[in-house]
Amino acid sequence: MKNEDQKRNICNVEAANCQKCSVNGKLMCKFDIKDTIYFVIPVLGAWIVSVLGILHGFISGGLNTLQLIFLIFSYIGYLVFFFQVWENKILCSHCPYYAFEDEKNVKCYANYGIYKAWKYNPAPMSRSEQIQFIISITIFAGYPLIFLLLAKMYIYFIISLIISIIWIVSMHFLSCSKCPNFSCPLNVVPKSVVDDYLRHNAVMRKAWEEQGYIID
Ligand code: SF4
Ligand code: SF4
Repeated sequence: MKNEDQKRNICNVEAANCQKCSVNGKLMCKFDIKDTIYFVIPVLGAWIVSVLGILHGFISGGLNTLQLIFLIFSYIGYLVFFFQVWENKILCSHCPYYAFEDEKNVKCYANYGIYKAWKYNPAPMSRSEQIQFIISITIFAGYPLIFLLLAKMYIYFIISLIISIIWIVSMHFLSCSKCPNFSCPLNVVPKSVVDDYLRHNAVMRKAWEEQGYIID
């Protein structure tokens, strides 16, 4: 793969030829800040409502200081573990955005800047990794909600839950339908587009075919 800027292609085709490519516009195969904005805004919305609710709960006595400190440090600790170790391994290490060996950080629409702690694995995620990923994002989204319930901040809980659902739905249509990490359990890229992309990525194609994947 080529050594260009953050918009370099995650395939074997020259960047100048994207316009002629059959998957152009159907996949997020080059970094575009618009994709990041669509992905991140609902997450930030849910976090802001959760933080406001937890602070309100603390001020009104629904949470004590010890509980607040435990929540803050345990959740921050989980986020570091999630992004840098767990998700990094089970999901991102299989993604073509992870492939560039000369870069220490991933430059993708969703987790721009995370450190590549593992070796790139072009093969699809295993069933165990897919299950672990669902568990890991459930904790990611659910942990603050549990503390809103503990603090009896039911209105904040409902708003945060609604925004989280909006995030999942918007992600389904705006991100998961165009993400090049095809073996993610949330990925819904059509097989015809997956096949076309694999024809442009020899390393990934070989690894997928070795696992039994058949290109139509
Ligand atoms: S797969 Fe096609 S559209 Fe995507 S980066 Fe490569 S050449 Fe460009
Ligand atoms: S696009 Fe998704 S799977 Fe790929 S590196 Fe970024 S966050 Fe990880």
